[in-house]
This record gives sequence, structure tokens and C-alpha cells, in this order.
Amino acid sequence: MKFEYAPAPESRATAEIAPSYGLFVDGGFREAADGRTFKTVSPSTEEVLSEVAHGGEADVDAAVAAARAAFPGWSALPGAERAKYLFRIARLVQERARELAVLETLDNGKPIRETRDTDLPLVAAHFFYYAGWADKLPHAGLGPNPRPLGVAGQIIPWNFPLLMLAWKVAPALATGNTVVLKPAETTPLTALRFAEICRQAGLPAGVVNVVTGDGTTGAALAAHPGLDKVAFTGSTSVGRAIARSLAGTGRRLTLELGGKAANIVFDDAPLDQAVEGIVNGIFFNQGHVCCAGSRLLVQESVADELLGRLKRRLGTLRLGDPLDKNTDIGAINSPEQLARIRQLADTGDAEGATRWTAPCDLPSTGYWFPPTLFTGVTQAHRIAREEIFGPVLSVLTFRTPDEAVAKANNTPYGLSAGVWTEKGSRILWMAQRLRAGVVWSNTFNRFDPTSPFGGYQESGYGREGGRHGLEPYLDV
Ligand code: NAD
Repeated sequence: MKFEYAPAPESRATAEIAPSYGLFVDGGFREAADGRTFKTVSPSTEEVLSEVAHGGEADVDAAVAAARAAFPGWSALPGAERAKYLFRIARLVQERARELAVLETLDNGKPIRETRDTDLPLVAAHFFYYAGWADKLPHAGLGPNPRPLGVAGQIIPWNFPLLMLAWKVAPALATGNTVVLKPAETTPLTALRFAEICRQAGLPAGVVNVVTGDGTTGAALAAHPGLDKVAFTGSTSVGRAIARSLAGTGRRLTLELGGKAANIVFDDAPLDQAVEGIVNGIFFNQGHVCCAGSRLLVQESVADELLGRLKRRLGTLRLGDPLDKNTDIGAINSPEQLARIRQLADTGDAEGATRWTAPCDLPSTGYWFPPTLFTGVTQAHRIAREEIFGPVLSVLTFRTPDEAVAKANNTPYGLSAGVWTEKGSRILWMAQRLRAGVVWSNTFNRFDPTSPFGGYQESGYGREGGRHGLEPYLDV
């Protein structure tokens, strides 16, 4: 199958998709040992895009063995040599960015504007950034002789398939570890294209292995005794299960789990700018974002004014074909996720909140949920406490900064928060009190490879990004 994306004749991009894909083990593609496969589907059209090998225990064994065999050679390379491979991968990602963006949009359902302008530039930036560290590890402030751990098992979700891959693979390779990666079952295609890029970059066989499959494949990988390190991003329940299975094994673990971030707007905030930040905070990537600003806390005196402006702005969002460059809201990634969003939104109605839906027509095929906000939300409501992971905003109000902090911190999570105010002193006062790994001020959902990212409490532990992101892959 060949998909073409042509916003203008001079900027045509195509992504070819083979009818089937194998696992990437020891530098080559192969079928699953037991021949099983699964289908990956376009969330916006429900069309089957390809049939992908479903890795089982034997395949995980083979991939871990390949990574183990590659480890002595890879870790013994001088850092400057490893850096050359990472720079090559970064440049190839840049060269193939349009193709990768089309592929990601097809498999995930997110708008091409986001994959093209946000996901892919960040993927390349992560590889460039960590390439730069590969020969400077003794100067990273982590001790004089940092050593790689060995083989890392990395399990990633479907919301930013290629970017989550980059967050995990780039620091692991820069520090001299080898990798077995398990992408999510609904979005395997860009990880497999990345495997091709590894080959194109001449990366030695076994340094990166990609085993596609579902949660059973992930569980087999997480529990594999041949690993030295597990890195997981996904739901809190699976993260807990992995932490339990690793207890007492001495294997290292980092977890990047859910969130229920507060986006806090004070009465002195520039309201139009805040509206853009709220929209970006919760409707970017259909709200499939662990650090999404899913709770709006607005100061009572400006609540009506802000909500009026917000609703007008939401009325202008375009929902539909993710390959159309004018689309703001794409498809929900899977029918299962759509069912979870619907079910949680329904509890908002049942518990007495008031639902408002942006006026838009939903396409008749594919998985869609319109931008939605709930007012009259109290802290007891499930929609104020649980991660919806969809385009649904819960609105609460506050009177004083102390009340804003108390409400923002009233969550078992602690991944991110946003503060909108003109007062610099108030930003610092809030940032010191908010229990969140990232606090954005007068902006939201900004990512940079130089900044550590990670959470408190049930949002997980460990940091990815920045110099701190090297630490989980090193013995110091
Ligand atoms: P999930 O945790 O089930 O899946 C994430 C990854 O883990 C996938 O690759 C999956 O195959 C794998 N996996 C599933 N079960 C596993 C197991 N027992 N052992 C090892 N790996 C396993 O997430 P989901 O079902 O796709 O989404 C459910 C909810 O999780 C969402 O509604 C959202 O709240 C949350 N979520 C959070 C993030 C995040 O970035 N923090 C990402 C995706 C989903």
C-alpha cells in the first residue's frame, strides 16, 4: 500500500506500507516463532494497514539473547564511535521525517500537523542530544567511571509511538546499553521503520531489537531474567504489575505512568493566551497525553469570561482526516480507548457535572470523540480524579492561591502542572508548592530533550530527558 500526503505539489510525502512485517531481531526481520500475527488498523478509516508478527516468549528469548551477544562489542566502543551511529540515526530520521510523519499519523490517528511539526522534530532532537553525551559520560557529573547496565527491555505506549521510542532508545544506546523494544499493539509501524533506519545507519546487529505484540509480549519481556533494566511508559496498573514482578530481582526499573494535571489560570493571566494554552494542554493529540492539562482550575472572578472565550475557540477546531494539514483533532487511537473515554465521560453526567461539546460532525467510520468540557465539577467526581486520556476537560474554580495549590495537589498523580499569571513571584511561589515533575508557566506541553521529565507519586519514578535521563542506564 502506498499513502500519499501532498499539502502542496512541491511537498509530496509518501509512506509505503508492506502487507506484512516481521520482528526485528539480531539485525534481520523474521516471523514469530509460532507464526502468529496481528493486524494494525488506521483509527480514522478502520482500514487494515498491515499484518504484523506477534512475538511470543521464544521471540523475546531470541531478542534478549541477540542484545546480550551485542552488548560486549557495543559497550566497548569508544563513546565517540557510538555517537557517530546516533548522529547517523538522527540525520536519517530528519531525512525521512515526512515519510515517518505520514506513517505515524496513519497508524496512530493524530493530525499530520502534530507528527510533522512536533513529534518528528523532537525524535531527531533526542537522538542528536544523546549522541552529544556519548563521549562525555565521565563529565556528566555522575561519577568518574559510569558503566552501562547491559540489556534494557523497553515497553512503550501508542500515544507518541516514535517519540517514546526516542526517549528510551537514544539514552540507552548513548550510554552503551543494548535494547529490546516492545511497541504498543495499535502502533507498531514506525518502530519497525525505525528498525530499518538502524540497519541503514549500519548499527551492529543485536544492538536494537524490536519485538511487536500485545500485553502478553510486554509481560514476557518485562519478566525476562536476561534483562538488566526495564523501562516502561503506559498505564499505572501495568506499571504496578511490572514493579511487582521485578521486586527483589535487582533489575533496575523506570516507570512513566499516568497523570491528571492541573492547568491553573489566575485572574491576572493574559486570557487569550491562556485559552490557547488550555486548548493545547488538553486537545493536543486528542488528549492522549500523560501530562495533559485535563483539569482546568480557573480563578472564580474570571471563570465566566474565560469559559466563554474557550468555548468560542473550541468552536473553531477542525476534527477529521488526520492527513489533512488543517485538521486540529484526529481520531481516537482504538475502539478500546474510545470506550474508556465514553465510559468516564458518562460518569461526569451521572455524578452531576454539566457537559458541553464542541460543535463538530463526527465522520461515520473510524473512532472519534468531540472536544468536550465539563463544568460544575467537584473534586469528588471521577472525571476530576481519574485519567481519561481523551479530549475531555474538567473545569473547577478556586478563590485563593492556597486553594489552587490544595486542589491541584489533590491527586494521586504528579506529572505536570501549568500556571497562568502575569506575576513572576506567584509563578515561583506556585512552582515550589505544586507536587508535579514539570511545571509550565504561561505555556503548556512544551518538551525539550535537554529537560528531565518524570513524575511524583503514582505518575512513576525516574527521569527521562536531559542529563538526568542518562542515570537510569548507568551504574555509577
Ligand atoms: P497499557 O499500559 O496497557 O499499554 C502500554 C504498553 O504496555 C503497551 O506496549 C502494551 O502492550 C504493554 N503492556 C500491556 N500489558 C502489559 C503487561 N502486563 N506487561 C508488560 N507490558 C504490558 O496502556 P493502554 O491499555 O494502551 O492504555 C490504558 C490507559 O493507560 C490509558 O487510558 C491511559 O490512561 C494510560 N496510558 C498512559 C500513557 C502514558 O504515556 N503515561 C500511555 C498510554 C496509556
